[in-house]
Amino acid sequence: METILILAHTETDGSLAKPALEALSAAKALGGALVVGLVGENVQAAANCIASCGAAKFLGVSGADFSQARYATDAAAAEAICKAAGATIVIAPATSRWNRVLAGVAHRLGGRTDTHVTAVSAANGVVSINRWYYRQRMEAVLQRAQRPWVIALEAGCCEAWKGAAGSASVEVVTVNLTDACKRTTVTGIRAPAADQQTIRPDANLLFVAGAGWTKTQPDGKAHTPEAEKLILDFLRLTKASLGSSKSLVDLSGEGQAVLSFMSHLHQIGQTGSTPRHLKGLSTCCHGEEPHTVGWRFVNERRAIDLNPNCGWARGKADVLYVADAFAVMAKVNELIAAGK
Ligand SMILES: Cc1cc2nc3c(=O)[nH]c(=O)nc-3n(C[C@H](O)[C@H](O)[C@H](O)COP(=O)(O)OP(=O)(O)OC[C@H]3O[C@@H](n4cnc5c(N)ncnc54)[C@H](O)[C@@H]3O)c2cc1C
Repeated sequence: METILILAHTETDGSLAKPALEALSAAKALGGALVVGLVGENVQAAANCIASCGAAKFLGVSGADFSQARYATDAAAAEAICKAAGATIVIAPATSRWNRVLAGVAHRLGGRTDTHVTAVSAANGVVSINRWYYRQRMEAVLQRAQRPWVIALEAGCCEAWKGAAGSASVEVVTVNLTDACKRTTVTGIRAPAADQQTIRPDANLLFVAGAGWTKTQPDGKAHTPEAEKLILDFLRLTKASLGSSKSLVDLSGEGQAVLSFMSHLHQIGQTGSTPRHLKGLSTCCHGEEPHTVGWRFVNERRAIDLNPNCGWARGKADVLYVADAFAVMAKVNELIAAGK
């Protein structure tokens, strides 16, 4: 029987983030002996939050050295927990912190790793994972004989575990760090203020802006400042997540007067991201295949484009509004602001 370790790190406030709770429910669904391994400055509060998850034990590596993401200390902590747990399968949320170290940890343990995993399942005692290849065009189901098998589970693919808090007894795992492990010091984190952060993976709605917002409009002029205001007002009112076509983000890279808040991180598509929002609204974007392939997991799709022959009209969207997105979005913002 497999020994399944759910390996999570705490956030700066000592809590467990949603991806960690999603990984926990995925690990639980496999059956088998479950061990929780936690890394962070102080892991007791996190362990208490998931005390009723049914784990046979809780292992913890804690202390100031483990408060922030740092390869050497995180890898040492993860390796020590995996060994102490005797884990054959390790499921970890694919956070940026864990993604950096998991492959190295698997190597140190003589195991194997799979990243970008979107599902784990077990049938007749055999564990399988699902993973997409070739820019999300093909899905594979994989099994491995090698153990330990370290699996980085993507966020947003499983329901987060919910259950009663309690009092967990955490077994301390000691990690001996050399000075060399502590050479890197995290001096701070630069991140946009919460209301400037326009990529919101948990939002129900994806709002995509295309290059049309910066193009010459029927009056012979471009209206980029108006476009910026309409888009930002909509995002502020709805808390939707912002995506972009490649053409629009490429314009930003070329130094043209474009939407100041747009970066390559917003790009959706073949060479961009493949987000998982419930609904999507595309505006001023032609809906070409390399773009719409990134909408694979968006179930309800609508688009606003002046061109009735755009890609969205060719089976890519459920509803296409052949209309001026400036006028439509101004009206939509007005209605939402008025609570309608
Ligand atoms: C190998 C490869 C990989 C690629 N990868 C990606 C990718 O990952 N993501 C991606 O997006 N693209 C990708 N592309 C590029 C893609 O093929 C398109 O060129 C790009 O998506 C076009 O962007 P767009 O629709 O915003 O711009 P355009 O094609 O310029 O379309 C602008 C649209 O805005 C409309 N419009 C203008 N004004 C208004 C208005 N007032 N109201 C309503 N509509 C208006 C126009 O009718 C037009 O349809 C890739 C291409 C290649 C070759």
